[in-house]
Amino acid sequence: MASVKKDNRLIKRLHKHVWEAVLKYNMISDGDLIMVCLSGGKDSYTMLDMLRYIQLSGDMSFEIIAVNLDQKQPGFPEHILPEYLQKIGVKYEIVEKDTYSIVKDKIPEGKTMCSLCSRLRRGNLYTTAERLGANKLALGHHKNDILETLFLNLFYSGRLETMPPKYLTDNKKHVVIRPLAHCEESDIAKFSEMQDYPIIPCTLCGSQEGLQRQAVKELLNSWNNKYPGRLESMFTAMQNVRPTHLLDSELNDFTNLEKDQIVPELIKA
Ligand code: SF4
Repeated sequence: MASVKKDNRLIKRLHKHVWEAVLKYNMISDGDLIMVCLSGGKDSYTMLDMLRYIQLSGDMSFEIIAVNLDQKQPGFPEHILPEYLQKIGVKYEIVEKDTYSIVKDKIPEGKTMCSLCSRLRRGNLYTTAERLGANKLALGHHKNDILETLFLNLFYSGRLETMPPKYLTDNKKHVVIRPLAHCEESDIAKFSEMQDYPIIPCTLCGSQEGLQRQAVKELLNSWNNKYPGRLESMFTAMQNVRPTHLLDSELNDFTNLEKDQIVPELIKA
């Protein structure tokens, strides 16, 4: 039984933000088979519910299949997702792949395992999508993940990039979508409590994951508390990029830039 009261405004807000992202980035087309990557965390459960809501609206005709990659982390509660998915009547597949042992074997004790772990997970998910004939994969990243990733890349990788709402995989075989791209993490957390999802803890691997991400999250939240609206403004900025006003020589042919060519861009500025 859900312990949190139903909040219709919250549900409406999530629906609105999901529709907004789905339409803005043209995420779903009739005839799609979308493989919904389900980890058992609040974000992926919410994403599955949101995609089912869009399906039920009847505005788009597509199919979904939920896929969980069981990476064989010690203590992974294998029964939770199959029981849940059977209960709600969603087609699913559990893929067992012991990436945990590979990561443990390759990464020295005390070092963070997330980068290799994520790469192996991604590879397995793409292979599964191909086998299932799914043309799209849906991931549960939300607005806060996107902002945090932008700052993680700025701080630690020297790159101005984040998680796009939609992209083509390197092998060009799949389109990856993030239907929660416009949703706030706090709304997802409240919705998840309301739905009383059987959450699988994300600490089973024992990795140090998230120390940097957690620090960035705290930084962004403290900014937003001090200057309300700052996160919103940064998120808007990501949708309003002016490559000519950055310093990347691959985007801007500075060498051959001539007076007449720059006039329109300066006017725009
Ligand atoms: S937290 Fe654990 S399961 Fe998640 S990416 Fe890192 S190593 Fe993998």
